[in-house]
Amino acid sequence: MLEVDKLRAGYGAINILWDLSLTIREGQTTVIVGPNGAGKTTLLRAIMGLIKASRGDIRLNGRTTANRATWDIVHDGVIMIPEGRLVFRDMTVEDNLMMGAFPRHCRKGAKQNLAQVYDLFPRLAERRHQAAGSLSGGEAQMVAMGRGLMEEPKVVLIDEPSLGLAPVVVDEIFRIIARLKREGRTIVLVEQNTHRALAVADHVYLMRSGQVALSEPASAVNLDRLHDLYFAAEA
Ligand code: ATP
Repeated sequence: MLEVDKLRAGYGAINILWDLSLTIREGQTTVIVGPNGAGKTTLLRAIMGLIKASRGDIRLNGRTTANRATWDIVHDGVIMIPEGRLVFRDMTVEDNLMMGAFPRHCRKGAKQNLAQVYDLFPRLAERRHQAAGSLSGGEAQMVAMGRGLMEEPKVVLIDEPSLGLAPVVVDEIFRIIARLKREGRTIVLVEQNTHRALAVADHVYLMRSGQVALSEPASAVNLDRLHDLYFAAEA
């Protein structure tokens, strides 16, 4: 459904992704691991059209996304839940979630989608009138995820959702990812926590210095070997 084909991209004169190819299959959870600076976030940004390829291509359902605006890619059902739990601090939880229903195509279903988000995150329902700035890190991550889900995505790109969260909160975030997977969504998960990520993965890519160092079905991944490759990258 999403094909990254020999992608070369970066920031200005600095190139980060070096002829990187990968395939995201419909209904699957694709996990991307790799050390800091490997270019995982850069890849997600390129998929969203936030940075442009200097070579290669990204195809969504067979159609190139080159020269397409981010809003157009969102309209086609691809959304990104960025790292860092970005919330509008002075707005309530509910208003933050409703921001996700801003794109025209998902305004009609906003009420129903909000009910679904509250079903997924009962804690947010309890705090719907609370300012988002007063939430815990885990709750803010739930708002960031919930806001993304308000956009009725088919493909959800999630960047390091567990970063800096307590283990019990990480459990909850991964329970939700597992549920999204059961609902049949296509998920691309960038995660440092390889152990947890593998538990929900169908396919695993290890990225190193802007390239794919390993591509395997999750069932074939040997964690020791993955960690060896992972840490070799940092040497
Ligand atoms: P992390 O796990 O630390 O988030 P990552 O694999 O997601 O790492 P990226 O965030 O994609 O890596 O960063 C890859 C490289 O691109 C890094 O060397 C980073 O410093 C650089 N980089 C990221 N954003 C920019 C930017 N806006 N301008 C210039 N360089 C950038």
